[in-house]
Amino acid sequence: MAEVKYVFVTGGVTSSLGKGIISSSLAKLLQARGYSVTIQKLDPYINVDPGTLNPYEHGECYVTLDGAETDLDLGHYERFLNVPTSQANNVTTGRIYQTVINKERKGDYLGKTVQIIPHITDEIKRRIKILGSGSKFDIVITEIGGTVGDIESLPYIEAVRQLRWELGPKNCIVIHLTLVPYLSASGELKTKPTQHSVKVLLEAGIQPEILVLRTEKNLTRDIRRKVALFCNVEEYAVIESVDVSTIYEVPLKMLEEKLDVTVLKKLSLPSSEEPPLTEWRDFLRKFQNPKHSVRIGLVGKYVELADAYKSINEAFIHAGSMNECEVDVVFIHSEDVTDDNVDRIMNGMRGIVVAPGFGSRGIDGKITAVRYAREKNLPFLGICLGMQCAVIEFARNVLNLAGANSTEFNHKTRHPVIDLMEEQKSVTDKGGTMRLGGYKCKVVKGTLASKTYGKSEIIERHRHRYEFNNSYSDEFRNNGMKASGINPESDLVEIIEIPSHKWFIGVQFHPEYSSTVENPHPLFVSFIKACIK
Ligand code: GLN
Repeated sequence: MAEVKYVFVTGGVTSSLGKGIISSSLAKLLQARGYSVTIQKLDPYINVDPGTLNPYEHGECYVTLDGAETDLDLGHYERFLNVPTSQANNVTTGRIYQTVINKERKGDYLGKTVQIIPHITDEIKRRIKILGSGSKFDIVITEIGGTVGDIESLPYIEAVRQLRWELGPKNCIVIHLTLVPYLSASGELKTKPTQHSVKVLLEAGIQPEILVLRTEKNLTRDIRRKVALFCNVEEYAVIESVDVSTIYEVPLKMLEEKLDVTVLKKLSLPSSEEPPLTEWRDFLRKFQNPKHSVRIGLVGKYVELADAYKSINEAFIHAGSMNECEVDVVFIHSEDVTDDNVDRIMNGMRGIVVAPGFGSRGIDGKITAVRYAREKNLPFLGICLGMQCAVIEFARNVLNLAGANSTEFNHKTRHPVIDLMEEQKSVTDKGGTMRLGGYKCKVVKGTLASKTYGKSEIIERHRHRYEFNNSYSDEFRNNGMKASGINPESDLVEIIEIPSHKWFIGVQFHPEYSSTVENPHPLFVSFIKACIK
């Protein structure tokens, strides 16, 4: 059996250089050349997972099929590779320490002093190698969060150093991503920050094999040569990553720069002919040359930070391309929407999405937005909390159940149309305790949902504690809102729709997490189609 190869991606100079996109692009190219690849993210923070983080901290919390709450980079990995990730693909310092401390309490290290080296670094190495075991993958790409030189990423860098020593340079390489800033005053690209950043890695005992340089302007041959000379890498291993208009262009840029060929050469793996990437290019061509254009209002409470709704945004890009339509997603702050201004705010919108969320802030605005979409026959998609708002709105304004609410916002409401799930009632801990990950849903025949999916059973990802209160089902159905998707085991309502409306769907799950470039999500595709009409 061939040995698994490991590629580490580190970052220097500044954060937000796009390590996730470079890792995803490399993985895509290696996959196109016939290798089976996965990507893992190591996050240096002490939270056990990002599930307890406010989206303002690191953007959206992504959810895997097996129910892990993860960093949003895993969303990029899945969107690019079209292969699901799992619990093992995201590891945090919190999780590493939790494992080591639990072992210590059990007595596994009895008599020994537990230390960062070797106990923490051993646990990091074990987590990296878990993905390589089981011969599922030829290559494991591990992205190390943060910037080299940060105190908190030191144990990770040390674990990488040890792994390289153990596995040898043909089985384990490091790609370092840095920034080459352009100084407009002198009209020059500057390499010094890159040199310093590589020096920091060298001090930790790591000589990177490949450098990827983020830059606004194309690098000259001289610059590449200079970086190669001062950073001890071969000239062909200095890769340019120039700014592009969409992240989906990056794989093609990396192909031009031969990042994949360079990686394979360093790992002593054969590289086939250049992959055509036909589907990818086709997606990009349609995305960049749209025939239609629609404006969609996305109503949420974290709109100041576009990353808070990353997967929804990307799902619209995939669905837009499929429909050859430019989708202009306008972020609308739910706290700004009122009965008096909703007409003005929604002017020009061809569809409305109400976003997922937690807590009562901004709920009234979301409900007003639902009412507007319902009454104006405007395509509407409610996701998770968005679906719950659609139910509350219908209860209040169509069923005339005054004060109808979710018990999340008013636990004394007379009409708890959305209520805490039974299994949640005994839960007190906040971390990792929601209904998470993939659950089955039966799609009711003859509904819009069934037409959209073209299937009678689906699996979608979840992240919630509250659900539709089934004691109201008859009242809703008799008045025009019906459940069109139901969990076959628990009867939980997964999809609601209004058959008399042009396109009105609310889903308790998160379709955005499973939309990929090669597999745009049918709900988003159908929603955009309805918006174009
Ligand atoms: N707060 C709601 C619940 O817990 C919705 C969650 C969400 O939108 N992800 O059920």
